[in-house]
Amino acid sequence: MTYKMILVAFIVTALGCSKPATEINKAVPFTSQQNVKADQQQIQAPLNNQENEQKLTAHIIEFKKGDTLTHLLRRFGFNAKDAILVKRALGDTFTLSKFSVGQRIKVMTLNNTIHSFTFSTAFNQHARLIKHNQNWQVDITQPQLASRYQQKRIVITTSLFLASQRAKLPTDIINQTITALSHLIDFQRQIKAGDTLTLYYKQMYLESDAQLSHHHTPPRELLYAALSGVTNNIEITRFKNAQEQQAFYLPDGRLAQSFLMKTPLNGARLSSTFGKRKHPVLGYTRLHKGLDFGAPIGTPIMAAGDGTIQSANWAGSFGNRIIIRHGQNYQTLYAHLKGFAKGMKKGVKVQQGQIIGYLGNTGLSQARHLHYEVHKNGKAINPLKLKQPSQSQLRGKQLALFNQHRTYLAQQLTQHHNTEIQIASAR
Ligand SMILES: [Zn+2]
Repeated sequence: MTYKMILVAFIVTALGCSKPATEINKAVPFTSQQNVKADQQQIQAPLNNQENEQKLTAHIIEFKKGDTLTHLLRRFGFNAKDAILVKRALGDTFTLSKFSVGQRIKVMTLNNTIHSFTFSTAFNQHARLIKHNQNWQVDITQPQLASRYQQKRIVITTSLFLASQRAKLPTDIINQTITALSHLIDFQRQIKAGDTLTLYYKQMYLESDAQLSHHHTPPRELLYAALSGVTNNIEITRFKNAQEQQAFYLPDGRLAQSFLMKTPLNGARLSSTFGKRKHPVLGYTRLHKGLDFGAPIGTPIMAAGDGTIQSANWAGSFGNRIIIRHGQNYQTLYAHLKGFAKGMKKGVKVQQGQIIGYLGNTGLSQARHLHYEVHKNGKAINPLKLKQPSQSQLRGKQLALFNQHRTYLAQQLTQHHNTEIQIASAR
């Protein structure tokens, strides 16, 4: 009887359909000798879940600060030798010292002796280690992913970032939104109190053993964003084009990207109080031929568009300054930088969004900020007036599919209309 019970426990676990038991079986001698026999005869063995459930017990263990695997599993008979064998079995898959605080592992025991344990090595990758003939074998699985859709509507009071935080928007969704909208709006000047932002996004989750991955950020994808307010009414929808590339599109099917980005730094880091200061001068005027963005020292500055570095050097009152030459006789200028990104020098090609330097307070500058200018044919122009929509446009069948997709999204948004509205009050 004892022998058969071990047999069943072993097989069911190997098939991965064991369920946590509520009760520990009283006394089952467990030797490697019996295990070998069980292994050899498992094909003929009857499956009996009922019996198995009384044998394997699931324990969820969480890593606290200073814990090691050996320390946590010691009470189940796991020792230093096991740790060495587990390390060997895992190879490059996972380093045992890389368990993070708060990470959970699922331990299956047989008569309070370790039988196997499972943990996540990535959000959707689990490693299961099974003790087998005094040795350890690893089984890597990709658990099933499912997606959940969420709609959030926030009313911006002072700063988009603060409003998003108060509305408990995931940081990666805020960043995806800001990156996408940086092409189209100036986050320092064109976001006003009372503007509303509606977001629709997808969040992945695991259908089973989700708690093993709870310390990882689940993958999320922004699907739709609409900003409506006094100065802006912008709607962007993610869509996969005929070349299987995902991008955001405007309602008329134009690619929601511009030749030069309106906000050449992370809009999330802009100081909301910056606009209320007297100096440095804000907004484009005859005397001040650029736009100022206030953000913490060291905030990465991005190339507003594809181009070639014309100069990256000290330039008197501008402090550390970069000038980029773009197509169509456009140039952009970035001043008061703390420093340049590695490799930035005359003649180097840069891509839109690439980090070129870091925000500072060098030269004749009264506060930490980025001074940004756009020149056309050698003359400074008002970047806010710049209209450079993308030439790329969905047409024909692609446009029809896109419109269908937008209609579908609109239905989804209406359905959830009253459920997730959040009014974020930022001070
Ligand atoms: Zn300025």
